[in-house]
Amino acid sequence: MKVFVLNAGSSSQKSCLYDIGDSLPKSPPEPLWKAHIDWSGGSENAEMTVKNSAGPTLDEKLKVDARGEAIKTMLDTLWSGPTRGIGQRSGIDVVGHRVVHGGHNYQQAMMVTPEVRAEIAALAVFAPLHNRADLDGMEAIDRILGTIPQVAVFDTAFHSQMPLPAAAYPGPYEWLARGIRRYGFHGISHQYCAQRSAEILGRDLAQLKLVTCHLGNGCSLAAIRDGRSVDTTMGFTPLDGLMMGTRSGSVDPGILIHLLREEKYSAEELEQVLNQKSGLLGISGISNDMRQILPAMKTNARARLAFDIFTHRLRSCIGTMVASLGGLDALVFTGGIGENSPEVRAAACDAFEFLSLKIDAEKNAASPVDQDIAAADSSARVLVVQAREDWAIARECWKLARNKRAYVEDSP
Ligand code: ADP
Repeated sequence: MKVFVLNAGSSSQKSCLYDIGDSLPKSPPEPLWKAHIDWSGGSENAEMTVKNSAGPTLDEKLKVDARGEAIKTMLDTLWSGPTRGIGQRSGIDVVGHRVVHGGHNYQQAMMVTPEVRAEIAALAVFAPLHNRADLDGMEAIDRILGTIPQVAVFDTAFHSQMPLPAAAYPGPYEWLARGIRRYGFHGISHQYCAQRSAEILGRDLAQLKLVTCHLGNGCSLAAIRDGRSVDTTMGFTPLDGLMMGTRSGSVDPGILIHLLREEKYSAEELEQVLNQKSGLLGISGISNDMRQILPAMKTNARARLAFDIFTHRLRSCIGTMVASLGGLDALVFTGGIGENSPEVRAAACDAFEFLSLKIDAEKNAASPVDQDIAAADSSARVLVVQAREDWAIARECWKLARNKRAYVEDSP
């Protein structure tokens, strides 16, 4: 079964194609083809990178006027030219979309129906950029591939069963009825990470207490017990919790009242400052990218402060997650920073040495992938897991499409 995965960011579009046989492989496979368009530098200067498993790579500058066009340009390279991954467009069996906000009701992936689309559209009030981008992606697939089955895999689903004390904000009780609650995000990544951690440890997921740290451009933690999310740092929106590349994470809400009242910020200005001008970029004044903060912090005090706030917040929030679990079997790092920065992992773990959590310095420094980097005598394991949201989405599509096929074949 050929599964095409679409992952829409606010100014990017990632896609890949998997070929999955009659059973799921034990280890995550490489995609047959993958592509990425990034127009964060403006729609006139989009960059597209395409790669197929046979080797050829395409790097191209293009102009992107709308997401539908970006997807069409990408798909053309899937079935034509040197980077093609399949012979013809009819070769795709199912399309999976990462949908950022699925609200409280979607606890698992769903086949895309008119009702599901309407619900995703209604939830766009909570995640305007992302949910509209996902709907645009579904419409583009309708136009290009016709009535192919499409699946929505929700980033909120994994957290949808969080206990109420973790999910409810201590505002007026009526907030809950109005949908103002902690939803949590990065759920596809946290769930994948938990399953992969159990495989790496050779343990039953249902017996494990895990804290998973997804540290990329966006950052969040999840506390996972018996394979279920019981707490997480992102909240009503992906702005809550940890410091991120350009997002502030949690700040005293009194600051927002002050900015609105005394400094006459508009809601749009507040949204921009908290989402685009804060975090590593806002503090360092240099970059939102940890790769640039790390060398700069040797000589630049603001870069040093950015790193120190990042790791201070990370340690505090790990402590919160451990308390929610009442113990810890493994601390798991994933995402661009989690996988690639031994400095961040070491700074996070240092804080818990008093609990005998210890990493092996050599293993930590040796670019580990899907490995345990804890010292032999550590009280809990420390893992580095490669983020594979695309593969996690493809697996969900495969399961749903197979069930649907079996249902159709069994029907009288
Ligand atoms: P996204 O959240 O967009 O999926 P990623 O998980 O790919 O992002 O993470 C991107 C971030 O990872 C970059 O902004 C950068 O800060 C960080 N990163 C990538 N490689 C490294 C590295 N070698 N060292 C430190 N940080 C890195």
